[in-house]
Amino acid sequence: MRRLEELFPFLASLEGRPYPFYKDLKGTWRGEGFDLRFVHVQGDPFATPSVVEVRYPARALEKLRVYRHPTGKVAVGDFLLRALKARFRHLPFFGGSGHSGRVFVEVESPKVLRRAGAHLGQEALYLRFRVGLPASGRRILGKEAERLFRALVEHLRGFLWELDGRALVSQVQQVEDFAYLQESLPQRGLVAFVGDGAILPRESGVSQKPLRGAVPFQSPPSLRVSFRVPHKGEVVGMGLPQGLTLITGGGFHGKTTLLEALVHGVYPHIPGDGREWVVAHALAQRVQSEDGRSVKGVDLRPFVHDLPLGQNTSFFSTEDASGSTSLAAAILEALELGARVLLLDEDTSATNLLVRDARMQALVQRETLTPLLDRVQDFKARGVSLILVVGGVGDYLDLADTVLLLEEYRPREATLEAKAIAQAHPTGRAFGEPRYPLAVASRAPLPESFDPRRGRKARVKGRGLRELVYGEEVVDLSALDLFENAQVRALGAWFQRLWRQADGKTPLRKLVEAVLGGVEDLFSLEEAPEVAEVRPLELGAAVNRLRGLEVRRVEE
Ligand code: ADP
Ligand code: MG
Repeated sequence: MRRLEELFPFLASLEGRPYPFYKDLKGTWRGEGFDLRFVHVQGDPFATPSVVEVRYPARALEKLRVYRHPTGKVAVGDFLLRALKARFRHLPFFGGSGHSGRVFVEVESPKVLRRAGAHLGQEALYLRFRVGLPASGRRILGKEAERLFRALVEHLRGFLWELDGRALVSQVQQVEDFAYLQESLPQRGLVAFVGDGAILPRESGVSQKPLRGAVPFQSPPSLRVSFRVPHKGEVVGMGLPQGLTLITGGGFHGKTTLLEALVHGVYPHIPGDGREWVVAHALAQRVQSEDGRSVKGVDLRPFVHDLPLGQNTSFFSTEDASGSTSLAAAILEALELGARVLLLDEDTSATNLLVRDARMQALVQRETLTPLLDRVQDFKARGVSLILVVGGVGDYLDLADTVLLLEEYRPREATLEAKAIAQAHPTGRAFGEPRYPLAVASRAPLPESFDPRRGRKARVKGRGLRELVYGEEVVDLSALDLFENAQVRALGAWFQRLWRQADGKTPLRKLVEAVLGGVEDLFSLEEAPEVAEVRPLELGAAVNRLRGLEVRRVEE
């Protein structure tokens, strides 16, 4: 074990040496208030920067024990990484090629997530981040490295002691309250909650910041509920009941913005985000049409059946799904994975899967699609709720349990009005008994599906929020709700575990739950500090989009 003071002269002594001499940094450097460990050392200044870990001993943990619930602990880790990132912004500039002298702590969204970069153990706190070790071309800039690490160590020394304790407590309490509220939703017969005063819209399509000057959310009196949460006390807002909820209103009155906020509301947000009190059921999932996606072995009959030429849809696969088949598949896959609330926007849903009106019923006899409209009762019977944004399709009014009407971003409840209109203007359409029941078949992935070496190279990496490079394949994630690159990276890591655990017999749902449940703490992944939690629903949805996926039907 080397002492931390020895690190500085050691770095200086590397001046002018070839880059691989940095490899000798590997291992632990023991300091006064903390240890530094080089977990991974990069091969050259252009390669992905090195991973450095700082370990603070037990006494440092005292200040961080401000949580009561496991989610509070997650909030502490998330807070520490954000604080570290903010602190490192004050580092001076260091010269050199490639990533030389740059320090990276990756936290990309205002979601409070379990992150691999932070770990509060029993006897120590660990934080991991990346450092680009300085070089000019392939020659080590040892003096520059010394200067960099002196500055880093200085920051790390002060880090915990100068932490904003009030902000920490506020984030932890926020997240514990969120978790409490989220867990209480089902008991109250609700699928979502939007607190009064919430700011839902974002600054722009590419920004996570709240829109300035936005109209704060105000719950309609008839849907107003209150919760007594552990820290904040009473919170008041709109509760959306189970069943079928329609979000309606004229164009540009904020329908999609509300739905989007609910999609984000499965995760807690940091204080100041505006969506702190937007809480969706933990198993809520958005589904949408996705032209061209691949579908493997899904029993589509609840929605798509009796195709021309006797094509069977009970074990349906395609490399190029249409708008309606892709939406049908997304809905059935979500049910297979255990989703309890489905969120849909008319804008992104194939119309022919949403509805077939009276005129089309009369004209087209040989119909191969059962629209969602004819399955609403089946969803209710299964205990699965639907939240649907509709601006054009009025046929749902008959069946809705709750109708929310947005006017200039202000929601009011229009359920009774909608019922009266439905009676006064009957659609004239027949609600027939669908030909096939809403049954959801289980599929077991075959292990070969996850072999990333198919083709030649075992390449696994994220490419933005929309693509996962997996071997020779690029998995299209654009229909998934992922909020950070760290979540995409997590999918890559989990795919590799699926490869080891799939046996061709275990249903997909059990498999993804086993893979995610088998990891106590993301920190135990040696892969990278930039990995954040994903839900089984997203992991399963990513698997379903793997073109190389092969499945077998199994009984549960
Ligand atoms: P819709 O889906 O009803 O057509 P959107 O949700 O897309 O409407 O919203 C239209 C525009 O209004 C967006 O630019 C959005 O940022 C803005 N907006 C939404 N909610 C609010 C609000 N509460 N205050 C101010 N602007 C808002
Ligand atoms: Mg819209």
